[in-house]
Amino acid sequence: MAKIIDGKAISKEIKEEVKEQVVALREKGTEISLAVVQVGCDPASSVYVNNKKKACEYVGIRSLSYELEETVSEMELLNLIRELNQKTDVNGILVQLPLPKHIDEDKVIKAIDPKKDVDGFHPQSVGALCIGQPGFLSCTPAGIIQLLKRSDIEIAGKECVIIGRSNIVGKPMAILLLRENGTVTVTHSRTKNLQEVCKRADILVVAIGRPKMITRAYVKEGAVVIDVGIHRNENGKLCGDVDFDDVLPVCSAITPVPGGVGPMTIAMLMHNCVDSVNL
Ligand code: NAD
Repeated sequence: MAKIIDGKAISKEIKEEVKEQVVALREKGTEISLAVVQVGCDPASSVYVNNKKKACEYVGIRSLSYELEETVSEMELLNLIRELNQKTDVNGILVQLPLPKHIDEDKVIKAIDPKKDVDGFHPQSVGALCIGQPGFLSCTPAGIIQLLKRSDIEIAGKECVIIGRSNIVGKPMAILLLRENGTVTVTHSRTKNLQEVCKRADILVVAIGRPKMITRAYVKEGAVVIDVGIHRNENGKLCGDVDFDDVLPVCSAITPVPGGVGPMTIAMLMHNCVDSVNL
């Protein structure tokens, strides 16, 4: 029977560790603050932002909320980021994505001081990741590495196949698996013979954004399957990019949705906020 990797429990473990670090820092006189910037009131973004604020409260990080109108200009948002960059009592800056169409996301990401880039999206953070220098790691892929390690799943020497090459999941995931000595293949919408390539994987990371696309036809017997996708069906139920019930009998371990990768993203954000003190 496949092991169901409990992202909720592992994320709790990480948040407890962060909580202890926050207490230790406070005893030395250092408080940690995260500025959370939301533009507009997209309901999905509001859920994510609230969950991040709740996590801050849980681990003892102060969250400062900046809620801007949907119509805010790019210049106003950039000015706010510059202000937050200057504030010595702000350790991390998080701008909830996506932003409205009239704002250039790349410009906003680049405006954040790399020392406060707790999402790990700034080109300097991505560059540092690529060449193995210290820097913030993108939270979702860093969380997946923790899920694997804390479930005693060996990465070194394993065939790791990633489906999806986005800047926030697929690409940083590839570099992190490589860093752990995996043999990494990145696949995408133009990959030929996707099923065949995926069937080589000992560890298959799925970040496509298509509900239940990955069935057992893509999975080698005994593979570990990590499902990054999050979708809500017409009945409001969450599912991933993997057809969980179909894949469960053939894999050796799998992350559920919800309760797999999702909670890890927020736990790693909290971890990055503490890291901001040392970077
Ligand atoms: P994206 O849309 O930026 O990238 C999707 C990738 O999938 C692309 O690189 C594309 O080439 C590839 N792709 C699309 N169709 C394909 C196909 N038919 N065959 C092979 N490859 C295909 O998405 P993203 O931001 O990487 O997110 C992926 C999923 O993960 C989404 O469901 C998103 O909601 C979810 N997500 C979850 C978390 C989390 O915390 N759990 C974090 C980020 C994203």
